[in-house]
Amino acid sequence: MRKHIVAGNWKMNCTFDEADDLINGIMEQLEQKELPRDTQLIVCPPFPYLEMTTDYANDSYFAVGAQNVAAEEKGAYTGEVSAEMLESMEIDYCIVGHSERRAYYGETDKTVAAKVDRLLAHGLKPIVCVGEVLEEREAGRQLDVVKTQVENGLFHLTPEQMKEVVIAYEPVWAIGTGKTATPDQAQEIHAHIRSLLAAKYGKELADDISILYGGSCKPGNAKELFACPDIDGGLIGGASLKAEDFIAIALSF
Ligand code: PEP
Repeated sequence: MRKHIVAGNWKMNCTFDEADDLINGIMEQLEQKELPRDTQLIVCPPFPYLEMTTDYANDSYFAVGAQNVAAEEKGAYTGEVSAEMLESMEIDYCIVGHSERRAYYGETDKTVAAKVDRLLAHGLKPIVCVGEVLEEREAGRQLDVVKTQVENGLFHLTPEQMKEVVIAYEPVWAIGTGKTATPDQAQEIHAHIRSLLAAKYGKELADDISILYGGSCKPGNAKELFACPDIDGGLIGGASLKAEDFIAIALSF
C-alpha cells in the first residue's frame, strides 16, 4: 500500500544558523514523538543546506529533498543544479513544478516532464506539483487544468518510472494565503488524479501512488484533510518552518 508522506518545503527561508536550529528542532521533536512506521517525513531545505540536512537525516530517519533541479543533464548552465549532483549527495526526493516556479520562472509542463526524466534517470523521486489558480477554479475548470498538468508532465513515463513519482495537489489559491481547500474540494481532485492514473496505468499502480495535499496545511486542519481516502499526506510550506507544527502535522494521520 502507498506511503503516508509529509514533506516540508522551506522555500527561500532561513539563514545557515536558522536552518541548523530548525533541523535540530525537528530531531528533538522526533526523539519525543515517534512517527508511525508508514509515515515518511521529508525535509526540503534550500540547496546550500542540503548537505547539513543529510548529515542529520542519517541519524534521524527522515528523507531529504531538493526544491528544484535543472532540466538539462550537465554543462554550461550557470547557477543550475543537476540531478546528477543531487544523486551524488544522496538526496532522495525533489520537488518539481511548484506553482511558484511555474508563475515566477516560466516553468511549463514540458519543463516539468524534462526535470522528472532527469531525476528518475539519477534515482531520485520527483514530487510533482499540480493545481489550478483561482480564476480557473472560479470558472469551474480545476479538473481539466489538473488533468492537463498530470498528462503533460507525467504520462510519457513507463509504469516502472511512474511508481517512483509522488504527486502533490496544490491549489494555487491556497498556497501561503491561509485559505485551505475544504476536505471535499481536495478529495475531489485527489480522486480525479487517481482515476486518471488508473485509466493510464491500471488500478493497482494508481492505488500505490502517494498523492499529497498542499496549501495552508497546518496542525489545525491536517487531520480532516488526511482522513480523506485519496489524500496520502501533505506538502507543507509555512508550517514546516516550525518544528513543532511540522511534526504535529506528520502525526495527524
Ligand atoms: C507550498 O508552497 O508547497 C505550500 C503548500 O505552502 P503553504 O503551506 O505555506 O501554503
